Amino acid sequence: MSVKIVKNLSAWFGKTARDLPWRADPHPYRVWLSEIMLQQTRVTAMLPYFERFLLAFPEVEDLANAPEERVLKLWAGLGYYSRARNLHRGAKAICERLKAGDGFPETASEWREIPGVGPYTAGAVSSIVYRKREPIVDGNIVRVLSRVHAIRKLDSGNRLIWDLSRRLVEERSADPRILNQALMELGALVCLPRNPKCGVCPIRGSCKGKSEPHAFPEKKPKKEWKHLSERKWIPLRRKKSVAEVWLIRNEGTGWREGLWDFPSPGARGVAGAVMRSEFRIQYVVTRHKVERHHFLFFVGSRTKLEDQNGRWFSILDLPAVPAPVRKAIAMVEKDLKTDQGQR
Ligand code: SF4
Repeated sequence: MSVKIVKNLSAWFGKTARDLPWRADPHPYRVWLSEIMLQQTRVTAMLPYFERFLLAFPEVEDLANAPEERVLKLWAGLGYYSRARNLHRGAKAICERLKAGDGFPETASEWREIPGVGPYTAGAVSSIVYRKREPIVDGNIVRVLSRVHAIRKLDSGNRLIWDLSRRLVEERSADPRILNQALMELGALVCLPRNPKCGVCPIRGSCKGKSEPHAFPEKKPKKEWKHLSERKWIPLRRKKSVAEVWLIRNEGTGWREGLWDFPSPGARGVAGAVMRSEFRIQYVVTRHKVERHHFLFFVGSRTKLEDQNGRWFSILDLPAVPAPVRKAIAMVEKDLKTDQGQR
């Protein structure tokens, strides 16, 4: 069965593979960058970021030597900022190897020593770049292989799926670079979670689950959402007709580490200002649904706001901010336009 799957999947990939920028010349830096960006993100959403990163940091040394602030700013909008921080740390670790004359990591176990690289990324990079016979398992591949083998119950750590993926890549006729990318492509374009396209699937002849694909694997009970609320003040001033907002850099740890956000209520220097408007936005992070209540204040151009981690930024040139801050700034811009329209 593995022989047939490898043959049909590889032939299909050869004919239909998308032309992605890291595929024609799978250099370790570009493949590693693409795999980190693709964690939790679709190809179409990540492509503009990938291009922008390569323009800013054409080589791994450029990324390693860049200030973290710049890396986070270029990442802004992709979410899951720990990936950007790990990417930066990872670039430094790779540069250490290069300086020591060890070259880029090649095997999956060498890649695992780089910050932010888990078993999937290690398998993906080593197989795509160096054609190592390393398996890959992520959510897409769990879905594909559990359907192909009609596996309802997954074991802890997906050991069975890892084993099945390994069997495929260790098949003598398999080219690991082609096979692993073909598996990824099948999960992304054909064996879709809701509407699998079994009619055009290159491995339907070997698939035991195609008559009821949605039954595999069995769905886990959904976790309960937690509801949280936050309140933020938005101090805004105009300087030479440019609107500026006051933001504070998060120096703590966690997913907002190094990102800029509005101050919490009570910021000194704002309390006396007149509140102009208020609005709410909602966002989701992991299993939390958060409602943010914003209060927009116009403050005088000479108002002093005291916070050693705070700074004024033009709303046209923001630093690394999380998605809810970008949404709030968009609402501020709308508010300001309404104001101009009324004059
Ligand atoms: S036949 Fe259908 S369920 Fe089976 S692998 Fe192909 S798309 Fe998925």
